[in-house]
Amino acid sequence: MLNPIFERYEKDLIDLARTVWENSEPSFREFVSSRVQVEYLRRMGFTVTENAAGTVTGYVAEWGSGKPVLAFLGEFDALYGLAQQADHLRPDPIPGQPMGHGCGHHLLGTGAIAGALLLRDLMQAEGLTGTLRIYGCPAEESGSGKAYMARDGLFRDCDAALTWHPSNFNMVCTGSSQSCIQCYFRFTGIPAHAASAPHLGRSALDAVELMNVGVNYLREHMEDSDRVHYAISNPGGSSPNVVQAYAESRYLVRSTTNPRCERLYERVKNIARGAALMTETKLEIVFDEGLSNTIPNFVLEEVLDAAFRETGVPEYTEEERHYAAGFKATVPVEDQLSGMPGACRDREKLEKNIRSSELCDYYIETNHSDVCEMGSTDVGDVSWVTPTCTANLNCYSYGADAHSWQWVAQGKSDIAMKGMLKAGEVLARTGLTLLRQPELLVRARDELNRRLKGDGYKCLIPEEVQPHYYD
Ligand SMILES: [Zn+2]
Repeated sequence: MLNPIFERYEKDLIDLARTVWENSEPSFREFVSSRVQVEYLRRMGFTVTENAAGTVTGYVAEWGSGKPVLAFLGEFDALYGLAQQADHLRPDPIPGQPMGHGCGHHLLGTGAIAGALLLRDLMQAEGLTGTLRIYGCPAEESGSGKAYMARDGLFRDCDAALTWHPSNFNMVCTGSSQSCIQCYFRFTGIPAHAASAPHLGRSALDAVELMNVGVNYLREHMEDSDRVHYAISNPGGSSPNVVQAYAESRYLVRSTTNPRCERLYERVKNIARGAALMTETKLEIVFDEGLSNTIPNFVLEEVLDAAFRETGVPEYTEEERHYAAGFKATVPVEDQLSGMPGACRDREKLEKNIRSSELCDYYIETNHSDVCEMGSTDVGDVSWVTPTCTANLNCYSYGADAHSWQWVAQGKSDIAMKGMLKAGEVLARTGLTLLRQPELLVRARDELNRRLKGDGYKCLIPEEVQPHYYD
């Protein structure tokens, strides 16, 4: 039913995804990636509002009118350090290109557009009414793009948000993700000659080190599901002969829910204050990013599951399987097996598929899950405001996981494009069911309200912090 309609857009969408891959732009600076999508959507009859939530590259494209309002979430940012030649079977950076699409967001954003275009055609064919919105969300990798958009109320009138992520698997994504806060601890002391006048100096580097020691002791007294990571983002210079007057660390604090994350962040801040007191240095805390935990929605997961089964998974030619085999062979079998999704219902079947096939070629059934997986996404913020669900579509060989050179190398392949187009179909079919049976949207909203237990959405990013990006 869907495929013949899709042929109208197939070439455009593949061109769009490949253009975004070729430009590989950083968070909040996805200038070309955003522009090509905005121009295409205008040509396709969508009304586009640019500069969403005060960003340069975020946009909201709309078609239709009235209720219900369905959101398709797209992304388009790339990752530093992952520039890679397409199709090469070894790490092989593109000269002069610092970034690469190691998370497949060139496919993600385009797949969201595919879903909305397809659903619009189906709505017109069936005479269904409602509003479709494509959210061009900047800065997922670093920058919390969707959190700013949620803070600005851009999802407030949505009845559901549908999204997907390129993956090694075909499945409904379930479970939660971690809430997180990222910030800088900046210590300022007094410089001095480290040999002749150390008593006059107050070391900012000592403060950074003592803070890290304190946090390492804190680890024994956190929940197992909490995580705290740090980088020394400025050690205060490379000369041991000078007492370092300025030093800085960047911390990332994660927990399973926003309130718990905020409490853990307070404890980390207290340790920083203690380190400043011990070293007689001044402390400045600069908030960088904040992401909410994801709230799963089982009602939407059911609809997505049915849509996925009806749509089916991508099918591959012998040539594509041969291509995938080359990339699969770059990762040891034990590592290939280590990334099996926790919610998978039949693990034996999946293990067999990983061992025997070059790439995932079946639909993996999952159990609904409330388990918080390690890691964070800004989709979490959207899920607090409107019922949200995510599909995973296979776009790569088995083996390497996200943020790898292998994902960048395969990003322009036919396998990647098949996954992207299939994602569009799955999302469109999910949206179609929701429009045909609006009572499902009521049930999905009830579930969200039940899970929130009266808590409203409160963005973790303080009001005075605006979209920004630190390298
Ligand atoms: Zn991603």
